[in-house]
Amino acid sequence: MAASALDPDECLSPHWEIRQKDHVKLVWHKPFEGVGRVRALAWTCDCRAVVYELLQSGGQAFIRKTTQAEPTPEVEESHRWPIEEARRVWHALLLGEMR
Ligand SMILES: [Zn+2]
Repeated sequence: MAASALDPDECLSPHWEIRQKDHVKLVWHKPFEGVGRVRALAWTCDCRAVVYELLQSGGQAFIRKTTQAEPTPEVEESHRWPIEEARRVWHALLLGEMR
């Protein structure tokens, strides 16, 4: 993750936009213990210090926010939503409309 020298053209995953001034604030909480299997539906590029992942667990999905830091990254999670709604939140988050 020594990404400072990374050529932006080499990034394969999307980057989030700077949050908009009137963005909707999402609630972030400590990761929920005892999750079953989760499947990554989408994720943002890890060349940024903050990486978001859209994760599916059963019939629901949520967003995991990882702030890369030494020695341990900080991990937070959003609420869980039905998958369709989670996808809408995901796109709004990438566009900076929610954060
Ligand atoms: Zn990147």
